[in-house]
Amino acid sequence: MDEAYIDFSPPNSSLCTAVTRYPNLVVLQTLSKSFGLAGIRLGIAFSSPEIAHLLNCMKAPYNISSPASALGMRALSPEGLAIWKHNVADLLEKRQFLISALQQGKNARKPGVPGIGDIIGGLDANFLLVQIVDRDGQPNNEVAEKLYTTLAEKMGVVVRFRGKERGCIGALRITVGTGDEIQTLLLRLQEWQNSHM
Ligand SMILES: *Cc1c(COP(=O)(O)O)cnc(C)c1O
Repeated sequence: MDEAYIDFSPPNSSLCTAVTRYPNLVVLQTLSKSFGLAGIRLGIAFSSPEIAHLLNCMKAPYNISSPASALGMRALSPEGLAIWKHNVADLLEKRQFLISALQQGKNARKPGVPGIGDIIGGLDANFLLVQIVDRDGQPNNEVAEKLYTTLAEKMGVVVRFRGKERGCIGALRITVGTGDEIQTLLLRLQEWQNSHM
């Protein structure tokens, strides 16, 4: 079970304690996301003692480096965890703000004008999957890809086009950024919509 985004999910979502009941289960977490430490490439595996033993046997000679280990220990110290907790709470607050703003944008969409549709695939990560709809209100890859390009090339906002993934027609993946970044995104989306009116 890949739990890379678990810290952005509701409390008690993790399956890590289930490894005591399922000896073939390995739960993986990472310091790359909620801890913001992608650069040290450090993660955590929860498993039965048997599987942990096998993994430990395979690690040598490519064990975790001492700098990564030192930074990981610091991140997981009481002081580090206090900062982490603050950062996660801050992100969740900003995600809620972004969700509300996008839903408002969706409800304000005028018929005959392309715009924001539904947020799909859950609300449990540090990004949202947002459907872009055409003039008829249908999720549309052509419109979404055009918006993606306009945002990136003319508006200085980079999101990801995800319309080609299964079940994701018209979808843009939008990362929850800083307060300023969210404001910029919302302004640019507004400008894009106005340019179609
Ligand atoms: C980021 C991520 C990981 C873990 O990345 P590492 O930097 O290698 O720890 C695993 N799965 C998913 C889906 C991710 O997005």
